[in-house]
Amino acid sequence: MPDPGIRRAILEAATALEPEAVERLAALVRHRSVLGEEASCLDAMAEIYRDLGLAPFRVAVDADRLAGHPGFSPPLIPYAGRENVVAVHRPREAGGRSLMLQGHVDVVPAGATELWTSPPFEPALRDGRMYGRGAADMKAGLVASVTAFRALRLAGLAPAAELQMAAVIEEECTGNGALAVMLALPRPDACVIPEPGPGQAALYVAEVGVVWAFVTVIGRPAHVRDMQAGVNAIEAAMRIAGRFKAYEAEMNRAERRHPAFAADNHPVNVNLGTIEGGEWNSSVPSQARIGLRVGVMPGHSCQAVRADIERIIAEMAADPDLRGATLRVAFRGFMADGAVFPPGQAISRTIAGCHREILGTEVAHYAARGLTDARFYTLYQGTEATCYGPDSDNIHGIDESVGLASLHQATKVLALTIAEWCGVERAA
Ligand SMILES: [Zn+2]
Repeated sequence: MPDPGIRRAILEAATALEPEAVERLAALVRHRSVLGEEASCLDAMAEIYRDLGLAPFRVAVDADRLAGHPGFSPPLIPYAGRENVVAVHRPREAGGRSLMLQGHVDVVPAGATELWTSPPFEPALRDGRMYGRGAADMKAGLVASVTAFRALRLAGLAPAAELQMAAVIEEECTGNGALAVMLALPRPDACVIPEPGPGQAALYVAEVGVVWAFVTVIGRPAHVRDMQAGVNAIEAAMRIAGRFKAYEAEMNRAERRHPAFAADNHPVNVNLGTIEGGEWNSSVPSQARIGLRVGVMPGHSCQAVRADIERIIAEMAADPDLRGATLRVAFRGFMADGAVFPPGQAISRTIAGCHREILGTEVAHYAARGLTDARFYTLYQGTEATCYGPDSDNIHGIDESVGLASLHQATKVLALTIAEWCGVERAA
């Protein structure tokens, strides 16, 4: 535990860096880093790591090599030109425990831009919050990580253990970016991902898993004047989506609920996220495709959920109401198990203590109905991992925002966490 003088120096440095952090966040939000368009944001992160005095390098996602890994998810698009960025600080003398600080650069689509108060990729400051797609999820977390490290350096210090930092792709659809990085680096003693908390800074204690499924329905086309002769693929797809609501209710029954989700009566959500289909307003549609996101309760594997989905589709195909429509299901995107991040593990206790020191309150525990990249470290490496980051509002929604005061507080918590976990040495 660094002495009070060192802690004060780190916190003063973090305060001095607040304007720079806000500028960095605004610059990152300007990158429209949706799936397949992450390159410029990755370049920006490499530049930021270089500014820290580190030598960033790239870690590609090699889908063929990763394909046999149990944490691998079937990709949606190829990986060329979208290499993760990694930077590693090495101490002069390795003393403390090593740490990975990871974040994702990818953001989800903005949705209906006319609903946004200000354009989603033009960062806007209102009432102490920064608005923009990805501002909270999770470019603020990336900024908090690098600013925390910067604060140590500005205080004339450096972590006394290896500190890995990574900016990864595809947290929002596969996690394969994080998986590739984890496998490419030496195993750290802990991993912290500054994913945002729900409305306040929070410590993640569990998260659900997720399976993405695409169901294609082939109906039978007909002219609308002979509509009864056709099989409407879109109507059949809607019926299938409805069937998954019953599955969702089944998966949320109290006896299925993992203890980490005891206080949540609806942790497993099934989302009908995309739909396409049909050919012509005056033709019975011959095909339709729906994209489903199906939550996975920890303790109930994603492979079991995949089998459930296949069973439901087979049952639906035999349903007379579908009148012989042909159904196909494909799994691309998330094939991810849930995970538990025990609050009693050493890294979580360290974060909780630093949070108490900075905010003067006990940190809220958060069992997340969504997933993060932290799962890889606990599930496949046996490394203590969790997420802790600033507050957030409307992530994946309209007018996403992060509170700047919360960003600065989270930065200080992370800076103290680094100092306490890794130890500090005088900078060279
Ligand atoms: Zn996120």
